[in-house]
Order: sequence, then C-alpha cells, then structure tokens
Amino acid sequence: NPKEEFLNVPLLDFSIGSNRDGIREALGQLRQRREGDFPRILPFINGKPVKDCPHFIASDSPEETGFTLGTVGMVGPEHLEQAVEVLKGGFAKWRETNPALRARVLFKAADLIEVSRSELVALIILECGKPWIEADADVAEAIDFCRYYGKNALDLFKSENLCAYDGEEDHHFYEARGICGIISPWNFPLAIPCGMFSAALVTGNAVILKPAEQSTLVASRLFQIFLEAGMPADVGAFLPGEGETIGRSIVQHPEIDTLVFTGSKAVGMDIIREAAVLRKGQTHVKRVIAEMGGKNAIVVDDGADLDQAVKGVLYSAFGYAGQKCSACSRLYVHTSIHDRFIERLTTAVQSLVAGRASDPSVDLGPVIDDDAMKRINGAIASAGLEAVMGRLSADREAGRYIPATLFVEVDPDHKLLQEELFGPVLAAVRVDSFEEGIRLANAHEYGLTGGVFSRHPGHLQYAARHFRVGNLYLNRSCTGALVGRQPFGGFKHSGVGSKAGGPDYLKQFVLPRIVCENT
Ligand code: GLU
Repeated sequence: NPKEEFLNVPLLDFSIGSNRDGIREALGQLRQRREGDFPRILPFINGKPVKDCPHFIASDSPEETGFTLGTVGMVGPEHLEQAVEVLKGGFAKWRETNPALRARVLFKAADLIEVSRSELVALIILECGKPWIEADADVAEAIDFCRYYGKNALDLFKSENLCAYDGEEDHHFYEARGICGIISPWNFPLAIPCGMFSAALVTGNAVILKPAEQSTLVASRLFQIFLEAGMPADVGAFLPGEGETIGRSIVQHPEIDTLVFTGSKAVGMDIIREAAVLRKGQTHVKRVIAEMGGKNAIVVDDGADLDQAVKGVLYSAFGYAGQKCSACSRLYVHTSIHDRFIERLTTAVQSLVAGRASDPSVDLGPVIDDDAMKRINGAIASAGLEAVMGRLSADREAGRYIPATLFVEVDPDHKLLQEELFGPVLAAVRVDSFEEGIRLANAHEYGLTGGVFSRHPGHLQYAARHFRVGNLYLNRSCTGALVGRQPFGGFKHSGVGSKAGGPDYLKQFVLPRIVCENT
C-alpha cells in the first residue's frame, strides 16, 4: 500500500528449513544447466529480443572454471541507435504519464522480485559468488528501492504554488530529463541496477540498462521483471555489451542526457570527462551520477567494546570477500588496546573459511574473476609483510578463492593503505590517540564510508563532526546501508555526492520548472 510508511523488507531467516530448501532447490535447477541446456540471454529493444547479436559471451560462475550459467548476446552500435529511436518515442509519452501509474510499475516490480526471491538469490550466489545471506540482502535491497522510490515519486510530482501574493501564481514542478543510460556493476548485481533503473523510470525517463559483463544474467532477470510489471516496451532497453564499446557509445551518445554509473574511479572520471564534450545534435548538458571507489577506514578506540569491534570489523572487511565499495580495508587501532584487539581479530580471521558461495557454511565466496584474483594475490604477495590468513574450504575446485587476509603493524604510508583492492585484504595500523586515528582515516583520496568503535561519547561526537565520509557508522559495521535509513554514497574521489536510497536521489533524474502566471 503506497500510503503506508516505508519499511525495509526483512531478510530471509535461514534457520527456517523451508527458506533453506527454497534456495537449495533453485541452486539445483541452475546447476542442471551445466548439462548444456543453459539459456541464451538476449538484449531487448522495444519489448523484443535482439536476435542479430554480433557476438555472444558465456557467463560463468566464479565458483568453478567452466561452469557456464548462460550465454549472453552482446549488442553492436546499430542496436544502440535502434534503441534510442524507440526510446525517444516512448519517452514523449512516459514523461506525460500520471506519476501514480509509473509508481505502480515499481510497486509491482517489487512484488514480482519478492515472488522470485529464492530463484534470484540462487542466481546471484552462482553468477557473482555471493554468499547466501548477502545474496538475499541484495534481493531485499532491490525490493526496498522499488518501494521507496515509488513512494518518493508520488510526493515529488506534486505541483506546488510558491507564491504567497494575490494576483500571481508560481507553479513549481518537476519533469523527466530524457533518456537515461545506466552502467551498473556486478557486486550488487540486482540491488544497484534496480535502484538506478527504478529511479530513472519512476521519474518519467526512458532507460537503457547496460550491466557489467559478470552479472548479465541477474540484470536480464531484472529487466524482464520490469517488463512484466507493466513498463511500456518502448521505455526500457536492455543492452548488454562491453564497457569499452557499448558503454562508451552510451556515454557519448548525443541523445542520452543522464548517465548513472557505479564502479571504479578510473571509469567514473572517464565518463565525467566524456560527458562534458558537447557533440553534434546534442541539445542538453549531460548529467552524471557517479558512485566510485572507496578505501574505507575503521578506528578502534581505547575502551571500545572489543567483542563488538571484532565482529563489526570482520564483517566490514570480509563480507562478500571485501568486494564492496563500502568495505573496510584500513584499520586504525589505539595503542592501549592494540595487542588485545589484534589477538582476538587474528583468531577470528583465522577461523574464516573461503569456499563455494553455494555452500551456506562458508564465510567468503570466490572473488569475481581471474583479473581480480591476479590483482589481489599480487598485492598480497608484494606487500613485503607477513599476513594472518583465514582458511580455504576443502570443497573447492579451480575457483578463485582468496582467504581472508590481515596485515598488522602496517606503516601508515604503506601502499596496502592507498590503493583500493576490492578483495578480502585488511591492513591494521597502530595509532597513539583517537584523534590520530581519525586524522589518518581522513588522509585518503576517497570519502565513502567509515566506522568508529568507541565508548567515549565525546569521541563519537568528534568523529561525527570530523571523520569526513558520506556514510559514517558508530559501533557497527561500515557496510550494509539500508534504503531509506542510511542513504548511501560518498564524496571526495568516491563520487559526486549522490545518495542512493535517500530523499534527494530522485531529484537528480528530473528538471525543475517554474510557470509564473499573472492572474
Ligand atoms: N550499499 C552497499 C553497502 O552499504 C555498498 C554498495 C557498493 O559496493 O557499491 O554496503
């Protein structure tokens, strides 16, 4: 019911047998595809599959080399042109469509995602190597985005008279910007594209979805769900393809005026640069909504609750094998509790097991692909320091498994503390005071998330003011932002300051207008 207050959908309780059975069954069905009857995922334009794809790629599970889940048709430049032509027509009508009808598509999509929950969780587990609980959280977040933005849109599109004087009316209202290109990442394969897509759609834009190659199957299901939920066929296009080719063409296209991206800083800055070039036939200034890297820090204070801190740090650093922009990879520990804390953290890290994400008992799944494996293993090997390491499960094949890795007593200038690794690697630094911890935490190009464990009220207040990140978490993990409660996004080199799942997000997809009438 759109009138009810927004509440986050609860996570599945896997202590209940039927919830576990649902995922097992869905995993089993996906595994059968190994026999060769895996699906062919096709791009979609105007509600129809694109059959003349120039080439196909296999979407493999990172769990096991050669475990193909499906093949995906990649689009060529002519398909982008076709899609833009269709979307231009669709946009003209969709912009004028009653916002309540647009919101209804999102509410319906949320319900459909909920109905397909086990199937989607299983697909995320296998296509992206995300452990059960986190795969379910990904699905829950997608549901939340649809319901939250659906409700937000109902308020946003109320026209308002700004004038308090007789004889004049000043109508303020919003309308959609145009065609929106979405370039989404693989690490939240459902939630992030769903958030971007639903926001663009509900505000009356026509939308192109270009997902990361590593998560095309999940993205394709999402797109189908929006069609099923009543999105007009000429308002959405699903265009899988390589970033370097189709991604770039979307960014440069003169008739695409909003770009929404989550991914690396290098690609994000490239998009911002390209988007600033005015091309022939372009009628507008492109807007870029970019969420980029993170190299997030947690400060553990003198007198922190160490049980709470160990648990929070562990989850922040090693949840989904550290493959979150929000993950903690830098730890600043007050010298007075350093040795006690590190001793406990070491034992905890050593107990973490990396293995197949489809096995619900593992803590870390595989990393996403061979490039990631090489990059992360290279950084561990070249650190020149001895690491504390977690365990590897016996039940794993030639997958991409990297155990939880902790480096202690690291010099604050060490390269481990500079580059974003996007893997299960945490570096801990000893600090002499809480303030020094905050200073070092701030001394980085990124400003996405941060965490503090402390029981000094004054220190918590100090951190709230001076630890400059988009999302600061006190006495809890620094990942797992919830829609509507912790709107997510950072600044500095982490992005443009956009907050997904917050009250400002939709405003980035619209143009504000004023009509002044002398009455
Ligand atoms: N919103 C996610 C979190 O709070 C992170 C999203 C990302 O990695 O891009 O953990």
